Amino acid sequence: PSMDNAVNVRANAASVRVLVVEDDHTIGGLLQTNLRSHGFDTVWRTDGATALRAVAEVPFDLILVDLGLPDIDGTEVCRRMRTVLPQAIIVILTARTAEMDVIVGLEAGADDYLTKPVRLAELLARVRAHLRRSEPKATTPVIELGDLRIDLSGRRVSIGHTGVELRNKEFDLLARMAREPGTALSRHQLMSDVWDEHWIGPTKTLDVHVGNLRRLLASFSAHRAPRITTLRGHGYRLEWPPNGGEGTDR
Ligand code: CA
Repeated sequence: PSMDNAVNVRANAASVRVLVVEDDHTIGGLLQTNLRSHGFDTVWRTDGATALRAVAEVPFDLILVDLGLPDIDGTEVCRRMRTVLPQAIIVILTARTAEMDVIVGLEAGADDYLTKPVRLAELLARVRAHLRRSEPKATTPVIELGDLRIDLSGRRVSIGHTGVELRNKEFDLLARMAREPGTALSRHQLMSDVWDEHWIGPTKTLDVHVGNLRRLLASFSAHRAPRITTLRGHGYRLEWPPNGGEGTDR
């Protein structure tokens, strides 16, 4: 493939740049070898400082970050990478089973997490799902619910005249919910639609992302915008139209 094609959309895996940040040489080496063998343009760094230098030099599409790094905490690495590369997909790799570590990482800007030992098939399935979903969709380019406007092709969100910054997965989740306003959506359905079609397992990732969206929408209380209701034991509903369906909006 020609170097000129670097700006091409992800037509093939070779145009996808992956950064692996992992101090364990066995795991890091395996990830790099396997991702390369599947055609991903993969770079491996063994500590936070050199990884941050790498993202300052060239952009990456996907970043896998071990939480336990020798120099800088992995969540801090996520936070800094997110500011440099707002559109990148960041996935935490963690041996820790403590839920708090995962939540802190997601709040620091990660889109998803995988627990070690990482199974390659699962990693590849997640990576492909993320890359597919980050491509713009052609149908229904704009969704408007009151003052909330979601531009699907430009991946822009505004409430009233204020543009709001969303992370990749927050955007995908809001867009998914806004396609069926007023409908009860189960956790499993949202996980499978937004994260991974074969999702089985905990939905902490979803709950953290919903929490962020809920706070964002609530902060625009003076505007006509949907709110998110938690349906205990089921999932979530994007409330629209307001007042339980008395409104006349679409
Ligand atoms: Ca480690």
